[in-house]
Amino acid sequence: MKRILITGGLGFIGSALIRHLITHTEHKVLNIDKETYAAMPEALAPIENNENYAFEKIDINSDESLKKAFTSFKPDAVIHLAAESHVDRSIDSPAEFINTNILGTYNLLQASRDAWSFSSEGKRFLHVTTDEVYGSLKQKDKPFTEENKYYPNSPYAASKASSDHLVSAWHKTYNLPTLVTNCSNNYGPYQFPEKLIPLMIINALNNKPLPLYGKGNQIRDWLYVEDHVLALVKVLEEGTVGETYNIGGYNEKTNLEVVQMICVLLDKLAQDSLNNIGSFQELITFTTDRPGHDQRYAINPSKITQKLDWSPKESFESGIHKTVQWYLNNQQWWSRILNDTYQGQRLGLMK
Ligand code: NAD
Repeated sequence: MKRILITGGLGFIGSALIRHLITHTEHKVLNIDKETYAAMPEALAPIENNENYAFEKIDINSDESLKKAFTSFKPDAVIHLAAESHVDRSIDSPAEFINTNILGTYNLLQASRDAWSFSSEGKRFLHVTTDEVYGSLKQKDKPFTEENKYYPNSPYAASKASSDHLVSAWHKTYNLPTLVTNCSNNYGPYQFPEKLIPLMIINALNNKPLPLYGKGNQIRDWLYVEDHVLALVKVLEEGTVGETYNIGGYNEKTNLEVVQMICVLLDKLAQDSLNNIGSFQELITFTTDRPGHDQRYAINPSKITQKLDWSPKESFESGIHKTVQWYLNNQQWWSRILNDTYQGQRLGLMK
């Protein structure tokens, strides 16, 4: 049994990780989260009263609050997920990305170092990052391995790359027992409706256009969020300190292919929402491309497969079916977000 301090545990991936840890392990979890627009306390409703779970509203930029949390909880492990995570927002307003992703990570590294200065024996700091730091692949390039150089292009990717370098420096300089995971695009339940897959499902159900950047031919390597969670637990429990592990789902798809698959599923599962159209595919539109848009990301996860015996359980076909069904069954959840005037307007989803 470990005492695990998780940052950003009210977010999409953090909440899935905490549901798993509390339901399937004996670990004690302290979740610290600033509760930004992306926080979803309802995603933890099934476990929030469990005696192994506690929550504190803390901004990782507040070193005083972090210090108190470390002193009172005494974690054996930290899993760092708190971040600003949406590329379009990073282009519109990069400041929060610099504050949270870079300075916040610095604060957390320092707090961990202070807390574990007497002895870091058995302690672990797992930093959760993204494949976007490696930049864009050409069609013929091999998928990213842990040896790829960093070429971040968006403010989001640059802020995550900076945080990754800080983590590596804190390991090499101060012997902080760090592990790093670089994961590809996740999808699944409770993903905030500004991200591609939920946005398309919800727009389709509202008979709104399904806007794809450029020609929709950008390639992403999709991983079901629960497979990511299982990989994080493996790395935390069995990974070698100082190492990086790439996590991916062997699921390279163009954005257009993803949206077409969603439409085919909705044509079957949500016929009642087809108002005067034959298929949801008729709603697909193409818009001006995002500045600096990376063409292709793809992960080679053979290291984590060979060293830690992890591989994804979900195919894209099974995962996307589960996800579409989840959004159909949880309209109340996403309607609440759309009914928040600011979020609704931002997402262009106000009726
Ligand atoms: P998310 O945006 O859904 O959640 C982020 C959480 O962090 C939110 O609950 C938010 O309130 C919290 N947070 C933000 N700023 C904070 C601060 N200053 N102090 C404390 N809490 C703060 O993000 P996600 O999709 O769950 O991603 C989690 C992590 O995984 C991020 O570090 C992201 O870079 C990484 N990642 C995400 C993906 C993906 O596809 N979503 C893929 C690879 C890696």
